[in-house]
Amino acid sequence: MASFEELLDAWDGERTVIHRDRDGDAWIFVCLHSTALGPAAGGTRLKTYDTPADGLRDAMRLSAGMTSKLAVAGLPFGGGKAVLAVREIPQGQKRRELLERYGDLIASLGGSYFTSSDVNTGPEDMDIIGERTEHVFGRSEANGGGGNPGPHTAVGVYHGIRASLAHVFGSDDPNGRSVLVQGAGNVGASLAEQLRAAGARVLAADVDEARASAVGDAVVPADAVYDTECDVYAPCALGATLNEETIDRLRCRVVAGSANNQLAEPADAQRLREREILYAPDYVINAGGAVGLFGVEHEGWDQSQLDAAFERIGETLSAIYARADRDGITTAEAADRLAADRLSAAG
Ligand code: NAD
Repeated sequence: MASFEELLDAWDGERTVIHRDRDGDAWIFVCLHSTALGPAAGGTRLKTYDTPADGLRDAMRLSAGMTSKLAVAGLPFGGGKAVLAVREIPQGQKRRELLERYGDLIASLGGSYFTSSDVNTGPEDMDIIGERTEHVFGRSEANGGGGNPGPHTAVGVYHGIRASLAHVFGSDDPNGRSVLVQGAGNVGASLAEQLRAAGARVLAADVDEARASAVGDAVVPADAVYDTECDVYAPCALGATLNEETIDRLRCRVVAGSANNQLAEPADAQRLREREILYAPDYVINAGGAVGLFGVEHEGWDQSQLDAAFERIGETLSAIYARADRDGITTAEAADRLAADRLSAAG
């Protein structure tokens, strides 16, 4: 188990802030992985960990992922992430006070880090942080924020699916295509609605079958997802669904969905390529939520500007697919190279 010192020595990011919050019995880790493209931005994860070092490792890893995600999305922000590592998830006044102190910590960073919500935090928490610092995205709509990012994420995924269909079938029209949406939650339900409106046949799977039947033309049992024939498999539930075991079973031509960390390990991108299944890299196709928050809260975009930005997610994926074909590499590698190009161009 690596210590703080070992983690800090090995990390390739720019700056780490470690704060011991005695009053809340919490550790706060703010990792600024890169500010090459702008202030570091990324959500705040409120979570219990076996050790504080596990929380630091998580913040470091997630902040590096944000650098690639925001670079490929073309946003003027670098990658960051914060973890509030707690013994138990605080509620009520205790939670408020922890978030207030955390907001003061963000304020002390002078705009080098912008936060938003992540696992176990939401718009109400961002409202509290927003009482102490302006460097926060994702406040509730009542407080001038962008609110729930799920529907924006779903629009980006919809455009990503269209770009993927175009690459595989020569037409981006979802009409008549079958799309298996795994996870009929915040993102999946909204995605299913757009796909059905465009004439696609939606197969829906959820551990909560009532949710699946509310959004799909047909329900697929949650444990039958990987064996079900479809044109597109859209993972919108949980991570690591693409692994050595499931990839062999897939009966689709495209994987394109919102879930984070879809590949259990990097080698899974090559496994998909060998099976000639087109993979839309997760951090590229699921950037709509971040793009929407930036557009609404930072730029004051109107709906047509937002729509154009979501469409660009599809265009970016098309460019990534073309690059992967040209260079004989996986689409995941092509996305990473695009991120690296943008970072090196910024110096
Ligand atoms: P959510 O919690 O609203 O929905 C997830 C749904 O998946 C739930 O209905 C749940 O019952 C279902 N589910 C859980 N385990 C399942 C399983 N094994 N099989 C089938 N269904 C299962 O979450 P969400 O906000 O819709 O996000 C979905 C995914 O997209 C998550 O991985 C999330 O990290 C990622 N993501 C979300 C956003 C966003 O804006 N919400 C942005 C980027 C990435």
